[in-house]
Amino acid sequence: MKTGKKNSSNILDLNRSLQQKETEIELLQQTFTDIGSELDIEKIFQIVSERALSLINAETLLIPILDANCETYTYRGGAGKNATEIIGESLPIEFGVCGWVWKHKRPWWQGMLNELSDEEKNRWEHEVGNMILVPLQGKKHFLGGIAGLNKNDSAGFDKKDLNLLQMFASIVSIAIENAMAVKNMEDSHALNENYRFKLEHLNKQLIESSKELEYLSLFDSVTALPNRSLFYDRLSREIVKAESDGNTIGILLIDIDNFKDINDTLGHDLGDSLLNKIARRFYGEVKHNETLARLGGDEFIIFLPGHNQKQAARRAEKFINNLKDTFTIEQNTIVVNASIGVAVYPEHGKNIGNLLSHVDFAMYEAKKSSIKICVYEPDHDNLAQGQLAMVADLRKALDQKQFELYYQPIISTKSKKIVSAEALGRWYSKDRGNVPPGIFIRVLEQNGLIDEYTYWAITTALAQAKVWKSRYGIKCIAVNLSPQTLMHPDFKKKIDRIIKNKGDGELLTFEITENLFLSEFDRLAKVLDHICSLGVELSIDDYGTGYSSLSRLRRLPVSELKIDQTFINEMVENKDDQAVVHSTIELAHNLGLTVVAEGVENKSALDLLTKLGCDSIQGFLISRPLPVTKFNTFIEAQ
Ligand code: C2E
Ligand code: MG
Ligand code: MG
Repeated sequence: MKTGKKNSSNILDLNRSLQQKETEIELLQQTFTDIGSELDIEKIFQIVSERALSLINAETLLIPILDANCETYTYRGGAGKNATEIIGESLPIEFGVCGWVWKHKRPWWQGMLNELSDEEKNRWEHEVGNMILVPLQGKKHFLGGIAGLNKNDSAGFDKKDLNLLQMFASIVSIAIENAMAVKNMEDSHALNENYRFKLEHLNKQLIESSKELEYLSLFDSVTALPNRSLFYDRLSREIVKAESDGNTIGILLIDIDNFKDINDTLGHDLGDSLLNKIARRFYGEVKHNETLARLGGDEFIIFLPGHNQKQAARRAEKFINNLKDTFTIEQNTIVVNASIGVAVYPEHGKNIGNLLSHVDFAMYEAKKSSIKICVYEPDHDNLAQGQLAMVADLRKALDQKQFELYYQPIISTKSKKIVSAEALGRWYSKDRGNVPPGIFIRVLEQNGLIDEYTYWAITTALAQAKVWKSRYGIKCIAVNLSPQTLMHPDFKKKIDRIIKNKGDGELLTFEITENLFLSEFDRLAKVLDHICSLGVELSIDDYGTGYSSLSRLRRLPVSELKIDQTFINEMVENKDDQAVVHSTIELAHNLGLTVVAEGVENKSALDLLTKLGCDSIQGFLISRPLPVTKFNTFIEAQ
């Protein structure tokens, strides 16, 4: 009977434990099904916490997960008593039992105490209470753990709970790891989207402000007439047209008499509104194919396509007559007179430089003799006579190869090594001595001789670059290109003859000026693309002194900006210059351009430029421009 009773209680126990096992297996299977296809990490933490809570019959269940910073962990999920208060809390990685588990990558339960050293035992015994914590080990990373606190119905978590929770952890860890990866991906995608949005917004702002800048850089703010740059641009196109059509162009330079006195009496604001009124009267005289511009101060200029000397002089009279009626500005009645100089293409000059200096001369003649209108008269113009002699000398200099190139080293701010050099023209004339390039280049340009000179300079620099590349590893030589040469219809043909392959092209950089961007944009883009296809890099010289529009700049294959020396000279003392240099460097880098600073004369400028991230520098601090032999000595001494 006794054995019978014992047997039946054994069977009952067995039944109970079988039933429990079945419940457990079912719970594990259900959990596995529920989270297997779930990618929402928060939902997974919630399911896992609730299931684990009932699996080990704990009062509270928590899921501490290591944070991405690897310095803290955060309770990301939980169920049972007080769990909601604890979820979200972060603790330092070495803190508490979790710290112990992270460190040893082993589970914690009370049975562990026996395996600890006395010191560790003393430390943990009080803190732990009734706790079980198993690690969550993903396939790729250690994730954190699952912790149970206070067993509901007995003294503590036993070995069976440990095994069960470990098995549970190994099943759910993969789902947790996957969902965390998806969450990370989503987060970084959202971050990307956010950045993209911000970038688009910034780009829009940039385009808006560069449009505004473009307007400001082309129109005069007082009169809303085109400014000097736009006038030059339009006149240069008109000259190209007139050249092919065999037409003439009249040019009038109008200067208001004694405007300084008017300005002093009325004050600048009223002076400006008078200029505006004058501009409007003049504008009434202008036909659709003519351009009236304000050159600055009290000077207006207009070009008149198809006008010869007589016709242009007659139009000048009309402008003068237009001023006969007095002006009224805030109850002041003002009488305005003007003097007008007249010059005509092509008799008085074939390019802008010549035409403008001659119309200027004529205007001063008019002022001097108070005849109001004066047509340019070459015999009266000593300067022009002097220039004629210079032109003859330059023609000879080209034929006799009197020009020489000097080279100025350009160093990298990082390596402090010479990476390239700029070729600068020098002319020593027996009669005139050393003539600076600022003068002879301009005269060459104004007299149709610049192309021949430039092709000579490119050829010479290329030959030199080949020598220095193999001897000193110098990457390339920069050559200055006049806009005229670049925009000449024959440029492509001529340059193809000099630069025969990409290897040659890569030894050269062409320096061009910002104002080029004002001219026929599509044609310019084509020319620049062709230069790039030859391997030649393009650099914008004297950046900051001209009128380049950002929106145009970014559409051209330019790779470098050279900040003009006027900004560099005083940047150490002058905060405004420093700000310009700083923002130019940032802007250039944002557009993917490198930056060279010109005219670096002292160490403090070099240090500051290095700090601001400027890529390379050129200036007297490193060396003045040198003839070939001296350049060799200089580089060998380095
Ligand atoms: P750029 O192309 O801007 O050349 C730099 C000028 O700054 C050079 O004057 C150079 O000697 C000077 N420079 C360099 N470092 C310093 C410095 O630390 N301090 C100071 N104060 N000046 C420095 P350079 O040789 O008199 O040439 C003047 C301009 O003439 C050049 O300006 C360039 O626009 C033009 N140029 C020179 N050679 C040629 C050429 O072969 N072709 C064309 N088209 N233009 C040329
Ligand atoms: Mg230059
Ligand atoms: Mg320059």
